Amino acid sequence: MSNLLGGPLTDSTKGSDNEQSSERPESLLPRSKRRRFTPLKVANQIPKRRRKEIEKALEGSSGTPKKWSRQNGPKNHAFLRKRIPPGSIRRLEFDLLSVDIGESWPVPITVVHGARPGPTITLLGAVHGNELVGPLALTYLSGPNFIGSGKAIDPDVLSGTIRIVPIVNMPGYKMKSRYMPDGRDLNRSFPGKPDSNTSYRVANRFWKEIIAGSDYVIDLHTAAVGRTNMPQIRANLAHASSNKIARSFGIEAILDNVGPKGSLRRVTNDADIACVTFEGGGPDELDPESVQVSLYGILNVLRSLRMIPGHPSRPTFRILASGSLWIRSDQGGLLDVLAPAGSFVDEGEVVATVTNPERPSESHDIISPTRGLIICSATNPFVTAGTPVGHILPVSKGVQTIRKRLDEDDCLVISGADGDPVWRDDDEVEDITVGGEWSGGNVDAEWSTNPPTDSDEEAAESDPSQ
Ligand SMILES: [Zn+2]
Repeated sequence: MSNLLGGPLTDSTKGSDNEQSSERPESLLPRSKRRRFTPLKVANQIPKRRRKEIEKALEGSSGTPKKWSRQNGPKNHAFLRKRIPPGSIRRLEFDLLSVDIGESWPVPITVVHGARPGPTITLLGAVHGNELVGPLALTYLSGPNFIGSGKAIDPDVLSGTIRIVPIVNMPGYKMKSRYMPDGRDLNRSFPGKPDSNTSYRVANRFWKEIIAGSDYVIDLHTAAVGRTNMPQIRANLAHASSNKIARSFGIEAILDNVGPKGSLRRVTNDADIACVTFEGGGPDELDPESVQVSLYGILNVLRSLRMIPGHPSRPTFRILASGSLWIRSDQGGLLDVLAPAGSFVDEGEVVATVTNPERPSESHDIISPTRGLIICSATNPFVTAGTPVGHILPVSKGVQTIRKRLDEDDCLVISGADGDPVWRDDDEVEDITVGGEWSGGNVDAEWSTNPPTDSDEEAAESDPSQ
């Protein structure tokens, strides 16, 4: 089997928590009869032309850069005008704006500088202020369950440097908004300019001080207002080192594209720094599956880069997609989604219905135009004719492989979502009793009856949220 998308696609003989058991375990077969590589079982294969581009880009990209050579010995990590000694953890603050008076918007950063030389990886959350999967996952990752002696990230064992920034767009986060205070999208403002508008200044400072010194960047996002994403990776697979970390993340869906203009991913790749975007869940919510899958993926990448010990887990299949279809409503009214993000549907299957209070006797079905995997679905129930309600990857190959990973609702069980919890075991959770009474007499009495305000209409209709 070719490894046209950048090396062994999977190594199914070791390490996965999520493999399907088979009648004859592969470990019982003589070594020569074991499959070296799992056959490429992808739904939406990358078209030949794009595949050639990717193969060409990957030629000659191998080996460890000299600066990571063990012979050089450990060195201090110079960061934000500080020298961080090998084998240490630092909690720092970075000011998004450089000012003498007024708001500087400090953001917390955890730096773990390993005792051994290696690459620098930067992990980012909330470049969009209301996308909370990144902040929670990276807060867990920065804490004592992951970092410390004997933990997954042990500074004395770590090769290289990890910088964790749970919240990049701090002012947006505090305003519960995707945007910066000047109304701009920070993820369309890179690399920015030092003497321009507020978002461009922040982007430029962040770019120069945090991103430019990185070898790898993982940027955690969710869908924008009005929709939710199945956990997925987006990467330019023709960028060699991005291709490598996209695959080593270890989850099932990789969307191959160049990042939007002004996005962190696009600009980072233009500077030949590896960058992938993780997408999972929606804004203003914490989708636990996405938090777990993102942590699982980050640890897989760290293992693949040999920064931390252990074998990375691999999915049983991988969808490498370079295209998709939209499912739209042809009616106006209230949407009832039957096949949410992550669902595997057949051609002609009803994925949602639309009803209208003005015509209660009528219900209109929205039909999937193809067999495939729904990677994003609407959560906003207000639809008019033409509103997208689902984003689907058409699947023509590997259907049986995919079906083995569906739950009873025909939703894909993403690698990392069904394995051991990455940050705690259930028996480590302490049960805590809380006394008192409910304000207003019942559990929900204090909820506001007003709908949440949000100025994100544009975002709900525009491009993917990254
Ligand atoms: Zn985003």
